[in-house]
Amino acid sequence: MQDFQAFKELLNTPKNIIIVTHHRPDADALGSSLGWSGFLKKKGHQVKIISPSDYPVFLHWMKGNDEVLIYEKSQHQSINPLIEAADIIFCLDFSSLHRINELGEQVGRSKAKKVLIDHHLDPEDFATYKFWSTEAAATAELIYELIISLGDADLIDQDIAESLYAGILTDTGSFQHSNTTQKIHRITASLIELGADTHKVARLIYDSNSLDRLRFKGFALSQRLEVLAEYNVALFAISNEDLTRYHSKTGDTEGLVNYALSIRGIVLAALIVDQGELIKISFRSVGDFPANELAQKYFNGGGHKNAAGGRSTLSLEETVNKFKNLLPSYRLKLTTSNKIRANV
Ligand code: 5GP
Ligand code: MN
Repeated sequence: MQDFQAFKELLNTPKNIIIVTHHRPDADALGSSLGWSGFLKKKGHQVKIISPSDYPVFLHWMKGNDEVLIYEKSQHQSINPLIEAADIIFCLDFSSLHRINELGEQVGRSKAKKVLIDHHLDPEDFATYKFWSTEAAATAELIYELIISLGDADLIDQDIAESLYAGILTDTGSFQHSNTTQKIHRITASLIELGADTHKVARLIYDSNSLDRLRFKGFALSQRLEVLAEYNVALFAISNEDLTRYHSKTGDTEGLVNYALSIRGIVLAALIVDQGELIKISFRSVGDFPANELAQKYFNGGGHKNAAGGRSTLSLEETVNKFKNLLPSYRLKLTTSNKIRANV
């Protein structure tokens, strides 16, 4: 980071701090926010975390979860003054303010110093300080490094270590994605030394299905998964009625897209969900196929090369057709991107 010294000095006296993260925070967004807030509190700062929306129950175990403010309409009046009064606003695990809608407008307007800590591509230029790297497997990795650079490793306790570990575990797909580096394993080892109980975290995150969620997964796999073998593409199209039928809760579709990608030979997987007010799309790819390009160009989104997302205001059927109609133009990439398969 440029001006690291100035940033460090900024934190030398107690500050009024807000941490914001992205819409429907995942384990990395929430874990890095709670880990960072736990650390900042130990340094004597006042800290509040604001999430643009609620998030899955399998993240509620993290220390400090009860204090997270959810920026629902009814809360705007009480939360906006907090944003205005902040000295520093940390933006974690997202790179542009428009990803957090109205909350982004409030953050943009605030006179607080803004600090971006993130690993997504193409950050918007709104922050005074940027701690940003697309090489980082997770924002939690950057938080860990930041704490180390500040010389405060001794302040990482078990709760902070477990929140950060949760972000690393999920953003690396349980250490399976191509972002799983030596460095992330070393950081993980340090987090274990600092007290993280990895078995406990894995159980809390992955073994917390409701029966509805598990049945929904079974239904989606048997009834809503389509394979377009000619393009090495697999997709789920989930209607709003499907969600209602299984009493779907926030986070219940998370991870589903990976099942489509797990089919042998599949290069691109899509999960297209009618959430009611809009259609949300998740893309996952292997090899060189740029899922983020597809998301950015055609679905008002973005992300990483192998994990991206976007949205659509068309109907579910129209969105699915739009996606399918794009495939011929990607045929070459879809049929040559799977290096692993080529070596089999
Ligand atoms: P997911 O499929 O888990 O919702 O998102 C995967 C990744 O895609 C996220 O980490 C994020 O980088 C990106 N992403 C998802 N939805 C959006 C979106 O609406 N806009 C942008 N710019 N990126 C998104
Ligand atoms: Mn992340």
